[in-house]
Amino acid sequence: MTATERQLSDILSEFARTMLTDFPIQGILDQLVRRMVKIMPITGAGVTLISESTSPHYVAASDSAALKFEELQTVLDEGPCIIAYQTGEAVAIAVLRDEERFPRFVSQAIEAGLEAVFTFPLHHGDSQLGALDLYRDSPGALTNDSMVMAQTLADVTSAYLVNAKARSELLHTAAHAQALALHDALTGLPNRLLLLERIKHALLSRRRSGKLVAVLFIDLDGFKRVNDRSGHQAGDDLLVAVSARLTNTLRPGDTVSRLSGDEFVILCEDLSEEGQVEGLAARLDDSIAMPYDLAGIAVELSASIGIAFAGEGNDPEELLHNADVAMYQVKRKGGGSHQVIDVHEQSRSDSSDSLLRDLGHAVELQELRLDYQPVIRTTDGRVVSVEALLRWDHPGRGLISPAVVIPMAEQSGDIIEIGQWVLEHACVDRHRWEATTGDETLVMSVNVSAHQLMAPGFLFAVRNILLLTDTVPKEICLEITESAFLQDAKRALAVLSQLKALGIRLALDDFGTGYSSLSYLMEYPVDTVKIDQSFIAKLMENKASHAIVSKTIELAHLLDLTVVCEGVETAEQDREVSALTSDFCQGFYLSRPMTAEKLDDMAGDAKTAWTISV
Ligand code: C2E
Ligand code: MG
Ligand code: MG
Repeated sequence: MTATERQLSDILSEFARTMLTDFPIQGILDQLVRRMVKIMPITGAGVTLISESTSPHYVAASDSAALKFEELQTVLDEGPCIIAYQTGEAVAIAVLRDEERFPRFVSQAIEAGLEAVFTFPLHHGDSQLGALDLYRDSPGALTNDSMVMAQTLADVTSAYLVNAKARSELLHTAAHAQALALHDALTGLPNRLLLLERIKHALLSRRRSGKLVAVLFIDLDGFKRVNDRSGHQAGDDLLVAVSARLTNTLRPGDTVSRLSGDEFVILCEDLSEEGQVEGLAARLDDSIAMPYDLAGIAVELSASIGIAFAGEGNDPEELLHNADVAMYQVKRKGGGSHQVIDVHEQSRSDSSDSLLRDLGHAVELQELRLDYQPVIRTTDGRVVSVEALLRWDHPGRGLISPAVVIPMAEQSGDIIEIGQWVLEHACVDRHRWEATTGDETLVMSVNVSAHQLMAPGFLFAVRNILLLTDTVPKEICLEITESAFLQDAKRALAVLSQLKALGIRLALDDFGTGYSSLSYLMEYPVDTVKIDQSFIAKLMENKASHAIVSKTIELAHLLDLTVVCEGVETAEQDREVSALTSDFCQGFYLSRPMTAEKLDDMAGDAKTAWTISV
């Protein structure tokens, strides 16, 4: 017996032994592919499972390069393993560069160092299971003996997989009885017991990973009415329909459970930032709000969703309780929305707590007002637009900056009400100035936070306010920042496109401070880019800032967007941004934000379009 034959026989007997044990399948296959690399003239090996119903997925790889080749075939949905699976025949490619059947795989694999690949089908009787791939970083065929040996190993692997599957099905049946005790009979979702178990587990792994854990407590508004009016069967059908929608809205790895009646709870683990949950909550709001068809009767629902993030020392019951409290706060405000209780915030100083409480009443106590800062056309000094900037005159603490107010309002959920207040007042003021100056073209710029943009009723509220204040959409420019895209890019794009379709102008604010700024410029339907003031502040002394401003203006113009330079504080900066062909500029040098009364006076004096010259 040659050394190779002995090694092959070792592998086979090892396989035979483990076949009868509970040894994890992953471990055995990993071991197998690594052993193959040792005894055969190859540099890597991998196993991929394929079935009609799911896309291929790899189950084992000898090293990171082999893993990459397995993943490539899965992602591209092409490559030798797909052909071996379809034909049931081995695929031997001695010179990968000459291969023409799967060009995308070839080009990417060659780039990663692959030169030859030999793939063997995994099958059991007539059914195909997947493929075994052998990889080589130099071109050249395998000997006949090696090919036979590989097919033998592939056959044994197949037998092993079939056996392991049968075993897991058996275990599954045993687990089924246990599962019944942990699941809700109506919807099949995990029940309270299992949920608490999962939360416990999530809290433990949170300590290791440092990732965020959130619990969303969902209570359906008006469910009782459906139950009373249409009967329990309709109520049950509705709960099943809701549970299906919740399940479809989740991110992979999240758990949805039913606690009782119309209460559902979602557990999100592995979050890298809180904004992800906001995005999810908004999607949940939307998905629950779509009408239901209950045996021909259309029913509409909304839900109150309370969100709590796990804090230090939280136990599962406590976290669930916090989310419940947040949900009740939403209910008290009329439901149909979501809100976060942030336990970190709660433990901060009393002063921030009381400010947060005061903010809830700021609108009704008329403590909010808007200042306006002109945006000026560089060519002739004409005021093309004014930007509404929120001010909170706190009775005890004086003027509070929007940099404090906005994040606080986002956290408390007051941002929705405050945002609507801002838009409405800005539209009313604009209307008055148009009437005085006769300038129909003056654009009102209004800042919109990501939370507002993502909230379910946003479009509806905007349309209503425009109608109510007799405002034409093109007279309004909504300023958004890149954080909206970070939360949920797909949804942000959908909302922006709808706003655009209404005829509203859109500006990307604070441009350059976010992440993938340039790609947003191309993908999102904005009209204007506002270059962040931090670049203008360093424009004259910092070469990099100068280059960024100059190139951003160039790129924006190529994409047919207009540019505003923010934070122009000196004559020098003003001259420079004009020289760089910025269309508009805004800053203390041209005008500080002013009260509405001051603008009323200016409008009275101007009786025509405003210009500002310095
Ligand atoms: P922003 O939208 O970028 O607004 C421009 C900010 O820069 C304003 O600060 C303005 O006063 C300030 N600014 C303007 N010119 C200059 C300058 O030459 N030098 C300097 N150093 N600053 C200048 P403000 O009013 O404190 O607002 C800060 C941010 O708060 C705004 O940044 C905006 O993101 C947010 N904000 C303000 N009002 C609202 C609102 O109604 N809703 C929302 N969601 N956010 C708002
Ligand atoms: Mg702005
Ligand atoms: Mg800005």
